[in-house]
Amino acid sequence: MFGLLFGSFLNVCIYRLPQELSVVSPRSFCPGCKVPIAAYDNIPVLSWIILRGKCRNCGARISPRYAVVELLTGALFLLSYFAAGSIAEAVKLCVLSFLLIGLIFTDAETKLLPDLLTKPGIVLGLLFSLVVPLEGPAQFLLRATVNWRVLSLLNSLAGAILGSAFILGVALFYEALRGVEGMGRGDVKLMGMIGAFLGVKQTLLVLLLGSFIGSVFGLLLILRVWLKRLARRRQRIPAEPRRQARRRAWQSATLIYRNFEIPFGVFLGMGALLSAFWGPALVRWYFYLYR
Ligand SMILES: [Zn+2]
Repeated sequence: MFGLLFGSFLNVCIYRLPQELSVVSPRSFCPGCKVPIAAYDNIPVLSWIILRGKCRNCGARISPRYAVVELLTGALFLLSYFAAGSIAEAVKLCVLSFLLIGLIFTDAETKLLPDLLTKPGIVLGLLFSLVVPLEGPAQFLLRATVNWRVLSLLNSLAGAILGSAFILGVALFYEALRGVEGMGRGDVKLMGMIGAFLGVKQTLLVLLLGSFIGSVFGLLLILRVWLKRLARRRQRIPAEPRRQARRRAWQSATLIYRNFEIPFGVFLGMGALLSAFWGPALVRWYFYLYR
């Protein structure tokens, strides 16, 4: 229930934060006719189903994203409860899920990762390490007599630095190579937040998972455009040899990479959710494959 309510609030954030509007006032209104939404039409998921995804007043279409975000937040809050070993850990997983869902959907819709989510996220990640022990290199580097909270905080800090430094490094390298900005600074802050929450080991896993999911997405995207262009080419120039048609269509399809901005934050966020809930299991499964 809490997850559904927080998901409902996230929808407000996803719509308003990129436009730099207040998330507190005015109360929720229809983006179509601007009429305030009545309390009885603002029940998570249920209202969207009852109204069949349309505004009661003007009939404007309401994106299924609203119901999806609410359901997803509810599901992840429930999962946090079952996956955690303590109440503090459950709260930490809930907060991380909340921030990540907000960032994933904002990045997907607007290609923006608002500072209002990432910056407090970094601070929260560091603070949670004082309550939920985080393992990492500090354990090996310092004596066991050092207070566990200090070790945990250092591990959280190390994760944040590793995550953000890696993305910043890749971004600067890409800029030097191509002369254009390939990755926004929002991704740097996002990875800093993820690192602060998950620590060094999991941060590496997130970078790996994020790159993998992003590559699969990019390949599928090119493949889809390629098939479409190929079909159109065959229709227009039936006499063209098949091999040449395939090559030309491929050249034209790969061109979309020049202009298409891949929302990398979406994939890093998905990697972080996978890693936070199933990280250890994923690593075990991966090494099992090589036995
Ligand atoms: Zn309306």
